Formats: sequence, structure tokens, C-alpha cells
Amino acid sequence: MIDLHLHTSASDGDYSPPEVVTRARQAGLRTIAITDHDTVAGIAQAQRAGSDLGAEVIAGIEVTAVHEQRDVHVLGYFIDPMCEALLDFLTRQRLNRVERVREMAVRLAELGMPIDADALLAPFTLQPGRSVGRPAVARALVDAGHVPTVSAAFDALISAGRPAFVPRRGASPTEVVAVIHGAGGLASLAHPGLIRRDDIIPRLVAAGLDALEAFHSDHSPDDVVRYRTMAAQHALAVTGGSDFHGDSRHPRATLGSVTLPQDEFERFFSRVAARQPGGM
Ligand code: AMP
Ligand code: ZN
Ligand code: FE
Ligand code: FE
Repeated sequence: MIDLHLHTSASDGDYSPPEVVTRARQAGLRTIAITDHDTVAGIAQAQRAGSDLGAEVIAGIEVTAVHEQRDVHVLGYFIDPMCEALLDFLTRQRLNRVERVREMAVRLAELGMPIDADALLAPFTLQPGRSVGRPAVARALVDAGHVPTVSAAFDALISAGRPAFVPRRGASPTEVVAVIHGAGGLASLAHPGLIRRDDIIPRLVAAGLDALEAFHSDHSPDDVVRYRTMAAQHALAVTGGSDFHGDSRHPRATLGSVTLPQDEFERFFSRVAARQPGGM
């Protein structure tokens, strides 16, 4: 079984990279991709665990792009995790994330709900490859006693349109496709059924997008059909995976719950050989 969308503690997953690989193997997965948000910090460890445990671990990434103030996630696969241009780009993305957390902390203080931004950011400053995100802000709000749960923190304070929300700065989806290609990778538009911006797909196709993520925990059966059909219309491959973050985080996104059929994986993989050397 194949799952091309997994998060580790290098971003906002609960488990370390080797733990994710161990659990993936236990769930019957043989081919997996580590796709942390804006970081490749978990890949080497996961690949070492993969060779010990008999799992193929593909070097992946989930980059957060911004289109008209909305987040658009772009997945990269078979990337070179040592590519300088990619690493520089990801460092900028992570610095934007730290800035955004600090701005949210200022807003929260103004709302009478202070959190300790330095303490929250300390693990990410000490391990600069790790990427921070709103889930860490939500946990800090719970720890400080301002809200009862992480989801209450999102719903009341830090989701788009809520008072402590700060819009993200970041690269456009087409720029992200170019960065992924520059690192020798293939690009897939993550969970388009969640983003609901099908209008951007033709532009991404023109920029060289390789696939749509048709299979995803938050996709309905109709979404799967819709994006498989759309991929075929645009001569794209399809990808898929659970978007596993940990057992507690997302009850539907368990390991093995959403997999990519072998023939779809092979169609996607065939693009590795066809891609331009050195990217574009
Ligand atoms: P960020 O990249 O900092 O904007 O954080 C986005 C992450 O927050 C997503 O990947 C989810 O893991 C998490 N998230 C978004 N919305 C919610 C929500 N309503 N409840 C819990 N977690 C959420
Ligand atoms: Zn996440
Ligand atoms: Fe995502
Ligand atoms: Fe994800």
C-alpha cells in the first residue's frame, strides 16, 4: 500500500520521522512520502528508518503557497533535499512562519489573551529546520487557559476571519511549482477539494504542474471522481495519501485509511524519468 502524504514532528506531526515510518510499516504501507510543511528536516531520518524496516521513503515536501490571501498547499516529490535553492526558499518560508506567530501573539495580547511567544518558538529556534505553525499557537492558548481545546482556539481566534488571524506572506503556487522542479521534483496540488480554487488549476498546469492529489482524507467520493477526471483532462497524474499528523489530530486521517492505487503511482512515477534534468 502507498501513502504519499505524511507529517512528522519536523513540522506539526505528533511522531518523530522514525516513529512515523515504524507505524506506517505496521499499518501495511510499503511506499510512503514524508511531506512536512516547508521543511525537509525529517527526510534523512525517515529514509534511514525505511531502509531498516523495508519501506520505500520518498523525499517529499508540502509547501504553503499563498493565492489571494488564501493558503494553497503544493506537494513536491522525489526532490533533492540538499538543493541549495530549495533550502534557501524553505528557510524564507519558515522565517515568514515565525514572524506570523509573533504577530498573532501581539494580537492575542491586545485581546487580553497573552501567550509566551518566545517559549512557544524556542524549540523551533533551537532546531531551525523545524517549521512552526498555528497548531503551536493553539496549544499555547490551551496551556495558558484561554481556551479549552485546540479546535476552540482555531474557531474563536486564529482561523481566517477570526480576531487574531494574521494573513500569511509567501510564494505564489506557480513559484512553488518552479522551486520544486528546480530541486528535481514533481509537483502535485494538495487536497484541491479543500482549497476549492479549481480556477487556478489551468495556470498551474501551464507552469508545469505534474499531478492533482485526488485521494485525501478530507475528500468525498465525489471529490475523488472530480479530481481524477480533471487530472485526465489536463494530462496530469494523480497522487494521494492520508495527511496523517498523529492519532489524536485528525480522527479520519489514520495510517492506511487513504492510499494511492499502484497503477496511479506508476503513472506518476513515470514522470520522474520524463522530467527536465535540472528542472526549469
Ligand atoms: P499554518 O500552516 O500555521 O497556517 O497552520 C495550518 C495547520 O493548522 C493545518 O495544517 C492544520 O494542521 C491545522 N488546522 C487548521 N485549521 C484547524 C482547525 N480548525 N482545528 C485544528 N487544527 C487546524
Ligand atoms: Zn499540518
Ligand atoms: Fe495541506
Ligand atoms: Fe498535509
